Amino acid sequence: MATPVSTIPKSAAKIRDALRATFRSGLTRPIAWRQHQLYQLARMAQIERELICDALKKDLGKPKTEILMAEVGCIIERSVKSAEQLPEWAKTEYPDVADWQKPWKPTIYKAPRGTALIISPWNYPMILTFQPLIGAIAAGCTAVLKPSELVPTFSQLLEEIVPKYFDPNVYRVVNGAVPETSKLLEFQWDHIFYTGNGRVARIIASAAAKHLTPLTLELGGKSPVIIDSAYDIDLAAKRILWGKCNNAGQICVAPDYVLVQRDKQNELVNAFRKHYNAFFPKGALDSPLFGSIVSDLHHKRLTSLLSRTKGEVVLQGRADAARRRLEPTIVKDVVDGDSLLEEELFGPILPIVPVDSLNQAVDFVNARSHPLVLYAFSDNESLKQQLVSETQSGAVVFNDTFQHLSVNELPFAGVGESGYGNQVMKHTYDTFTQLRSSIDMPKEAEPYLAIRYPPHSEEAVKA
Ligand code: NAD
Repeated sequence: MATPVSTIPKSAAKIRDALRATFRSGLTRPIAWRQHQLYQLARMAQIERELICDALKKDLGKPKTEILMAEVGCIIERSVKSAEQLPEWAKTEYPDVADWQKPWKPTIYKAPRGTALIISPWNYPMILTFQPLIGAIAAGCTAVLKPSELVPTFSQLLEEIVPKYFDPNVYRVVNGAVPETSKLLEFQWDHIFYTGNGRVARIIASAAAKHLTPLTLELGGKSPVIIDSAYDIDLAAKRILWGKCNNAGQICVAPDYVLVQRDKQNELVNAFRKHYNAFFPKGALDSPLFGSIVSDLHHKRLTSLLSRTKGEVVLQGRADAARRRLEPTIVKDVVDGDSLLEEELFGPILPIVPVDSLNQAVDFVNARSHPLVLYAFSDNESLKQQLVSETQSGAVVFNDTFQHLSVNELPFAGVGESGYGNQVMKHTYDTFTQLRSSIDMPKEAEPYLAIRYPPHSEEAVKA
């Protein structure tokens, strides 16, 4: 892994101050200006896509098709659509109020929060850096982007290409690892948008608390899958395995473990084997369609978790530490307390936990932190509603894995340990926007207000 390049100057405050001065100058206010920046972002993604693909291939071994669809294409689409929809989002609102308050002209202005700090992780570095930026641009904020040091080629590339499309006094890439990010966190920001793990989120939240900075935390967790025995097990296996194979399981919404009725476990295992062989006829180890593990440390973490499981490995994934490769590995008969149930797996390992009833599956989920997503495969509408009302999670997705991410209108967010604050299109715009209330009291209101001025007569107070 290349050493991350730190580009933070001696005084990080200078960057923040420059961006703040730009914000105060009013440059980012006009809607047409913001729309132009959003189109610039789409242009950047389009024009630089080959360099972006090469960088992500180098850092993560990501298949090009996956990068173009999930990262580059998504940013182009969402930038352009946000630009188109921005005039509607940014409209000043005039709430419907009681007739006697109408002359006060109650108004809600959509005010940009100011200068934002966006800290992103390595696993989907393009979308997780620029999706928040789309909202920040749309809202009229200025922003520092701090991409992850674990994808050094990509982060370095951003530093080179972003200034070709954007004024560095408005949107600036700052590279570095923990010391540099810690330095940035010392300063007061108007919003911090952090995507990553819960441990670091606590550090970010403490830093934000010092300045009472509003914060969005997009975190992860163990997203469970519940399979109703009456559902088509073969189809469930195909869709779950696909979800687990994306980015080699290194996605915050990856299905983390499967809860299935005990008597259906073997049928599920066979279906996983069948679909694995169809997806990767020669295995995934050397397949260009299957990604690598991001770092030696994460590779070791995953193989160590596997070495400690008490479950039975039924699909043995080969590992190649030198190339940080790990094939999908499926483990059955995993029970509470197993190494594979300790932490978010964030890799291509899928434990199966057999249960005796759906209620037991619900209890298993509810005994743990609220996940980012709860997946369930079922045709039974009342069971679906039971899951909606009896569990908590960032999202609940029926009969597929993470396809909800493709619906631009749905907010994406965690709850509890999986984070807080919304993103995607208008929801990201709202995150970086303050709803600023206003009234303009007319002189003619004075007779109605007379009662509030002291001295108050007792009769008036009683009335
Ligand atoms: P990471 O290691 O790249 O860290 C994320 C960012 O935090 C980086 O920019 C890094 O420089 C910074 N950072 C790391 N340590 C820090 C410290 N001590 N102080 C200040 N900043 C620090 O990425 P990661 O955390 O390993 O990312 C994976 C996690 O992110 C998983 O838990 C995953 O579920 C979660 N995730 C969530 C979402 C979402 O949208 N909810 C999306 C992707 C990933």
